Amino acid sequence: MSLIEQWIRPEVRAIDAYHVADASGLIKLDAMENPYTWSEELRGEWAQLIRDADVNRYPDPHARQLTQQLRSVMQIPANAGVLLGNGSDEIIQMLALALGGEGRTLLSVEPGFVMYRLIAAFSGLNYVGVELNAADFSLDMEALLEAIDEHQPALLFLAYPNNPTGNLFAVSDVERIIAASPGLVIIDEAYAPFTVASFMPRIGEFDNMVVMRTLSKMGLAGLRLGLLAGPVEWISEVDKTRLPYNINVLTQLSASFALSHISVFDRQTAKIRAARSQLFKELQEMPGITPFQSEANFILVRTAEEEAVSLFEGLKRQGILIKILHGSHPLLNNCLRITIGTKAENRALVEALKFPKT
Ligand SMILES: *Cc1c(COP(=O)(O)O)cnc(C)c1O
Repeated sequence: MSLIEQWIRPEVRAIDAYHVADASGLIKLDAMENPYTWSEELRGEWAQLIRDADVNRYPDPHARQLTQQLRSVMQIPANAGVLLGNGSDEIIQMLALALGGEGRTLLSVEPGFVMYRLIAAFSGLNYVGVELNAADFSLDMEALLEAIDEHQPALLFLAYPNNPTGNLFAVSDVERIIAASPGLVIIDEAYAPFTVASFMPRIGEFDNMVVMRTLSKMGLAGLRLGLLAGPVEWISEVDKTRLPYNINVLTQLSASFALSHISVFDRQTAKIRAARSQLFKELQEMPGITPFQSEANFILVRTAEEEAVSLFEGLKRQGILIKILHGSHPLLNNCLRITIGTKAENRALVEALKFPKT
């Protein structure tokens, strides 16, 4: 037996490392990033702030100023607790540490956000993924309620809207799941900038529901900042698993600066929502392509039988990178996921789909 086999935990060895595609030189429509950059003026002001940052000092461990701004911008109820993570991925890990342990279960839906399953695997949690309804990716309530009853999950994650399908689940279904869950239900609102639906105002109404957000999809993916808001009793326990100083000096300064110019980001995300409707219509008119309605900054499409790989490869040859989902889950057969780009990028995509180069 090699040293690796002897010491690396089998559940870790069994995982395929999270793969990020090489996008150099390509129009990047694969990772739900905001395509817009900052004006020269904004960059100048930001650079000035960074110039004066004291990187020899540890950051504020509670990121007080930034947290206050997040409370205001995200309309977090005043009586809610808030903790910050180095991206919401880190918060998923904190939750797994705080509520995990021998014999405990993390439950989510499939197809869904892959990090729930990966983090469950490396933290030794049992993972249960309940399949969505095949026709419209809505929640299969019968299967879910049965799985909750059987597995008594410590953690139940629902992305709202869901990734990679883009739809919102019915509010009444989510409410029933929260009521039926013995453990903590985490509503992952990573795509909040692209929908009006939210459970944020309902924090406190349930004793087992918290809301997770991130600044990544809004336009700050490079800074890595997410938050968890919920009843103070839950948040203060989960906060004990947070490493000290997890939000670095540059992220605190930069995110705080960005939030003080929130109207810039609001304009950008409004443009993305408008482009989403436009792109949806154009995709709908293409023979052999079926787009699914989306409340996020991407559109899931289903291609004709056996066409997904060739379309994906064809786009890549024409300089456009999207995400291929075919093969990742049976409900995603022949599926591709397209992130909404700038007007010009979306036009390039539509042209490349209409007139493929061989
Ligand atoms: C992108 C995404 C996240 C991760 O966000 P980070 O803050 O960048 O770690 C979390 N949940 C869902 C559903 C996502 O799509």
